[in-house]
Amino acid sequence: MTNHLFSLVRRTLPADPASRVFIETPEGRRYSYADLLERSAAYAAALKALGVRTGDRVAAQVDKSAEVIFLYLGAVRAGAVFLPLNTAYTGPEIAYFLSDAEAAVFVCDPVRAAALKPVAETAGVRALLTLDASGRGTMADAADRAPPGFADVARGPDDLAAILYTSGTTGRSKGAMLSHDNLASNALTLVDYWRFTADDVLIHALPVFHTHGLFVATNIVLATGGTMLFLPKLDAKLILSLMPRATAMMGVPTFYTRLLKEPGLTREATAHMRLFVSGSAPLLAETHREWSARTGHAILERYGMTETNMNTSNPYEGERIAGTVGFPLPDVALRVVDPETGAVLGADEVGMIEVKGPNVFKGYWRMPEKTAAEFKADGFFVTGDLGKVDARGYVHIVGRGKDLIISGGFNVYPKEIETEIDALPGVVESAVIGLPHADFGEGVTAVVVAGKDAPDEAAILGRLEGRLARYKLPKRILFADDLPRNAMGKVQKNVLRERFAHLYDA
Ligand code: AMP
Repeated sequence: MTNHLFSLVRRTLPADPASRVFIETPEGRRYSYADLLERSAAYAAALKALGVRTGDRVAAQVDKSAEVIFLYLGAVRAGAVFLPLNTAYTGPEIAYFLSDAEAAVFVCDPVRAAALKPVAETAGVRALLTLDASGRGTMADAADRAPPGFADVARGPDDLAAILYTSGTTGRSKGAMLSHDNLASNALTLVDYWRFTADDVLIHALPVFHTHGLFVATNIVLATGGTMLFLPKLDAKLILSLMPRATAMMGVPTFYTRLLKEPGLTREATAHMRLFVSGSAPLLAETHREWSARTGHAILERYGMTETNMNTSNPYEGERIAGTVGFPLPDVALRVVDPETGAVLGADEVGMIEVKGPNVFKGYWRMPEKTAAEFKADGFFVTGDLGKVDARGYVHIVGRGKDLIISGGFNVYPKEIETEIDALPGVVESAVIGLPHADFGEGVTAVVVAGKDAPDEAAILGRLEGRLARYKLPKRILFADDLPRNAMGKVQKNVLRERFAHLYDA
């Protein structure tokens, strides 16, 4: 048996791995595929020397660098389970993840090592090492010292490769267990669907602690032997300057709105690019249209989640429709069901999205009841996203199930109202939420980010009347300078619900 996920890399290795660039940084540092092989083997050997056994969890809370990717691949080659953690997590949050996952090794930023040492010790972590943004630290030193000639630990398709904790906006984060084949199969499907080859040069400015940056973007490049231009973070000017050398970019919607603010974003500036992908949060139809007008490129929007990798995508060839997430991927079964009865719904009927396929995770780490609750008897996973499939087969997401508003007994889907408000001149964007209301249960409420010459509350309400059924009309329109977002650009409606919880009190 081979190492299933790492065989993805071996499959497409060039005859001379030193001749092809895998990662290039803005400072001009280049790492070839030979470096990838050597460094990931060194990390694997170092982890083994630290006592990491097959199936042990290797946790890392570190800044983005090429070395993190080699550590991830080293953990995979050593037969361990990689556990990346958001760099924003605080000490108490890290304490939860390390003890819940029973991590054997924890790699963190040298600056935080002293503060996190007791946290790691209490959690039973056997070794604490460091790695900084330039890729140096005690973990890198251990890899430098590791003996050569590491042999990959054999791992099959169903063995675990990673645990990714969900962002957990309600309750404690859950660890999604991802197998070698969950990751490998999805990467291969996307390579095909999005036509990636060894000639692609991907602009990578996403964080590498999340499924989007670590798995979707990186695994696709690994599976094709392509090149990544590796940016520490979103920097619109830098991205723009790299486009003449690049072919593809993957981003969250914020990437596109920021780039649209750059006067240099033109048809000429993007002429060398063949593909712009967006996901992790809904892309405004407006952004899609503006991008097309400015660059001539239709952004390809796709839909996925930590637990499932990617589920749907707009087509490579064929119409990429703004406001939709396209078709289920070839090996993914997707259905929309009535959340109450479980009955499968027809075209254009809104319900709960469920998916099944080789991309879907193995369950939540040490939470068998939660796992059981989110899988149907026939193996479909309940995503928690509400949506519909239209007559042409395009999937539309209308929001998270927990963001559904029930006002006066009627279901109100925020996206429908947000779309109407966003279309008004002068409105930048909006978020529609339900707030406790004595009369209606929940009062429909819109939080609007207004630009120049935006209409006021009365004017917005006036414009919506007659366009939306009465029960959907917001009771109040509130204004904010911006909407709270997490690291992946997702609007945090829970934060807004807390902030305005008492709006309708007495
Ligand atoms: P995460 O697990 O952090 O990747 O978040 C997954 C969630 O992000 C999904 O369940 C959706 O609610 C949302 N999401 C991802 N991609 C899209 C998209 N293209 N449009 C709308 N929502 C999306």
